[in-house]
Parts: sequence; structure tokens; C-alpha cells
Amino acid sequence: MIQYKNNEEIALIKESADILGKAHGLIASRIRPGITTLELDQLAHDFIVKSGGRPSFKGYNGFPYTLCVSVNENVVHGFPSDEKLKEGDIVSIDCGVYYKGFHSDSAFTYPVGEVSEEIMNLLKRTKESLYIGIEHAKFNRRIGDIGHSIQKYTESFGYGVVRELVGHGLGRSLHESPEVPNYGRSGKGPKLKNGLVIAIEPMINLGTPDVIQEDDGWTIRTEDRKPSAHFEHTVAVLESGTEILTTHKYIEEYFDF
Ligand code: MG
Ligand code: MG
Repeated sequence: MIQYKNNEEIALIKESADILGKAHGLIASRIRPGITTLELDQLAHDFIVKSGGRPSFKGYNGFPYTLCVSVNENVVHGFPSDEKLKEGDIVSIDCGVYYKGFHSDSAFTYPVGEVSEEIMNLLKRTKESLYIGIEHAKFNRRIGDIGHSIQKYTESFGYGVVRELVGHGLGRSLHESPEVPNYGRSGKGPKLKNGLVIAIEPMINLGTPDVIQEDDGWTIRTEDRKPSAHFEHTVAVLESGTEILTTHKYIEEYFDF
């Protein structure tokens, strides 16, 4: 069952999202060759707790960290590690904050130092596809319109759209109905009604759409080991216009692409 949110609830999700946005900004300020993603995890954890929030992912189905950190061929749900980021890597940082009873969820994929043009294009176009998806997440449209628009745009470059993982509703729980696939047919799926809050999160692979799960039981990587990008916002569908509740503005002070 879809839980539609009222204005007060959406305002609380925005408060949660503001802490999340600043945590992302803090991470963005530190991304460079030589830093370990465990350091980033600690930074984000401490900032969220100091701000009165709780990291949404830590303890979720036993996930042990604040951040999902997915480097290069890892798509999502990777663990932070003590391995240093290297020039030319890309790293998806996914984070959620629970605050005053509500979750927010957003992700950004960073280039570490200089990356190849091919990989930079993957990042730019995956990020663009997030905003294209949001453009189609309008009152009275359907869930399939979102996925169709993301799929059409990213497949036009020959990229693979991950099927096994999808966006989701969220609010009092981190994952609620409905599922929000990054593929599909326009005009299909649940109608987008006033007060629907969803995380839209394209996961786009340079090569095959196929993914496998690593033996740690969490990390999802591309089957062909080519890189994958992931960008995510939490948005509210309102009759008055769709609002992006999470923000990348603090990230964009450091990474403006
Ligand atoms: Mg996320
Ligand atoms: Mg999500």
C-alpha cells in the first residue's frame, strides 16, 4: 500500500534531507586520490549524529555502515573500506538520514581526480537521466513514465540499465511502495498522486545491464566489470508541482558537472 504524505510530513522529510545534503557536501569536500572510504564513512556518520539524525542504512537488514560505497564496477550497496581511492576511479556514495521520524535518501557518483572521457560521459549522462526522470515524475502521470524516460535517454548511448535494483517510496520507512524502476513503459504502473514521496535512482552501466552479487552478500557489481554510475534524489509529487526534497547543492560547490 502506498502511504501518501501530507505537507507537514513532507516538511519533515526536507529537514532530514537538509542534514543529508550537508553530509554529502562534507564528503564531496574530501573526495580525492589517497582518501579511504572508511574515513568518508566516519565523517558522514559523525556529522549526521551531531546534527541529531541517525544514518538510515546502518543496521538496515544488518548493513554495517553509514554509506554505501561502490567503486568502479560496483553498482550499489558496497562497503566502505580502508583501500585508498585512486586517480581515475569513480565512486558512488549513497546515504540516508533518519530524522524526526522520516528518512531521506540520495546518492552521487564522483570522479576521483581525472577520469577518462568515456567514464566522465557516463557520469554526466546518468546524472542527466536522474533529472529527466524527475521531469516525468509529475502529478497524474504514471510510474512507468519515469523509468521509460530514463531508459530511453541512457540506452541511446548504448548504456545498460540495471533491472534488478529500483527506486522506491520512502518516508517513515526507508523502503516503501511503490517500486520505481529505471526502465519500463510510459502510461503503465501506479498513478502519481498528490503526496507521493519516492527515491528516483538510475543505476546505469557502461556495458551490459547484467549484475551479480558479491560473496559479502551486499555488493552488487556489473557482470562484465565495466564501470557503473548511480545518482539519486528523494522527490515529492505534488499537484502544485514536483519538488526535489534532497539536494546536491553542497556537492556542487566541489563537483560541478
Ligand atoms: Mg540511496
Ligand atoms: Mg534509494
